[in-house]
Amino acid sequence: MKPVIALVGRPNVGKSTLFNRLTQTRDAIVADFAGLTRDRHYGNGRQGRHEFIVIDTGGFEPDAGSGIFKEMAKQTRQAVAEADVVIFVVDAREGVSAQDHDIANELRRLGKPCLLVANKAEGMRDTARLAEFYELGFGEVHGISAAHGQGIRSLVELALEPL
Ligand code: GDP
Ligand code: MG
Repeated sequence: MKPVIALVGRPNVGKSTLFNRLTQTRDAIVADFAGLTRDRHYGNGRQGRHEFIVIDTGGFEPDAGSGIFKEMAKQTRQAVAEADVVIFVVDAREGVSAQDHDIANELRRLGKPCLLVANKAEGMRDTARLAEFYELGFGEVHGISAAHGQGIRSLVELALEPL
């Protein structure tokens, strides 16, 4: 069985862009509109010697009460349940948001191994800017750029090594 990686995070942090990068397809819908990828979406990933399954998810909004948001949160919980490891994606440029905290709490409750990743970190020489993400309680934050393909290989190694 190939290991399964779930990409989780609030809308617009770059989950679908990272999915495309990991699977080298353009299947996930990448959009400037928050929350467009509403369904779970599976892909075959390969990085060097590693082969894995990636699950892209829509936004994870545990506190949003109604309709589509509730469904998205449910879909994401199912994706986490199916995963061996979760990549928790945040936005390096926007910093920590209340929604990131909600997701962090939900992920803690679900108890899967998680790797915290700050996307959109291209050209960010000052990694001290990423230090604020420690408050989410997932330890070290790994800066990457899904759009520019930076930090992807070591991210995959970090995610899969403990499995
Ligand atoms: P999702 O809602 O989390 O799936 O986010 P998307 O993958 O749809 O991306 C949301 C927006 O962020 C799009 O405009 C992407 O082009 C942009 N984006 C994704 N990755 C990066 C990145 O590494 N750097 C920058 N600057 N923008 C990115
Ligand atoms: Mg998406």
